[in-house]
Amino acid sequence: MPLFMLLDMDYFFAACEEARRPELKGKPFVVGTSPEKDKLHGVVQTSNYVARQFGIKSGMAVSKAVALCPDLKYSESHEDYYEEMSKRVMDIVRKYGFPMEIMSIDECALRLGEMGMEAAMRLSTEIKEKIRNETLLTCTIGISSSKIYAKMVCDSAKPDGLQGVEGSGIVSFIRSKEVSKIPGIGPKAEEELRRIGISKIEDAIGKSPMLLMDRLGSLGTFLYRVANGLDESDVEENYQMLSIGRETTLAYPPTKESIMEAMERLTDQTISEVLKKKMMFRGVSVKVRYTDFTEKIRSTSIKNYTDSKELLAKKALTLIEGLLDAKPVRKIGVRVYMLSEASGQSTLF
Ligand SMILES: [Mg+2]
Repeated sequence: MPLFMLLDMDYFFAACEEARRPELKGKPFVVGTSPEKDKLHGVVQTSNYVARQFGIKSGMAVSKAVALCPDLKYSESHEDYYEEMSKRVMDIVRKYGFPMEIMSIDECALRLGEMGMEAAMRLSTEIKEKIRNETLLTCTIGISSSKIYAKMVCDSAKPDGLQGVEGSGIVSFIRSKEVSKIPGIGPKAEEELRRIGISKIEDAIGKSPMLLMDRLGSLGTFLYRVANGLDESDVEENYQMLSIGRETTLAYPPTKESIMEAMERLTDQTISEVLKKKMMFRGVSVKVRYTDFTEKIRSTSIKNYTDSKELLAKKALTLIEGLLDAKPVRKIGVRVYMLSEASGQSTLF
């Protein structure tokens, strides 16, 4: 049976700040949206473990966090540095040569194949040590028989953990957990499931797949498979994907106007690079990172290769529209992929 590894960095953004400023280690501190000298006007983007014990959460006003913990240390966020650290971590993992999917800035999955659990655990120990030695950061690794199971194992081994759950053991491992612990089951689905008497994963075992599908559509089928140990989610190799794009960090608080201005600038810059490289594209994606560091990416494809700025702008605006209401936006990005060399086509047609 093939094995999968899920690696997730611990308190990634806070840990990066601790690596930059070792004097913060062990003290309560937050990373926020405002410049250091005007910190009280910002919101908390993330906090370290010590600050969380004071009840400090992402999205909270910094003034409130300081009220909860007067000794709180504050750092403005250094997004370029976090990206750089992420790249260093991903490069370490990539060098092992397994098929790899980058899930987010601080999380990736590997398809290890049929190496056996013992070898997988040895490999994981080595990767954890290497990351710690080279970046001072810790991570948690979960190993199991699918990508989703590996993620669930990883989540329950945090922080600085390593755990493997093989084959049939996975059902007993997940059965007493809440359904919300399954990646992809959000609050809405959770509510819907509660109405049919499902709150723990074991409540879904033996339920008819038709009933679950009826309530939740394809998510119902997914839940049925996960609960019964049938999930086979695989890594989708994405790290080699060639793309051209730009990202920018917004001042806090973001406004509709500042977002639209930034979108226009990013679209312009992306198209300039596409033209400079004499490329055309079929894929467009838009990324939003919120002030709590969560991210959403939306993608779409176009029927024919293009290098049209108007078309990119139109697609990108449609994609970003659905992403703006949830939470205040910190960073946005526009990217084109599925590239092809223009080779004179744009002048021919
Ligand atoms: Mg993480």
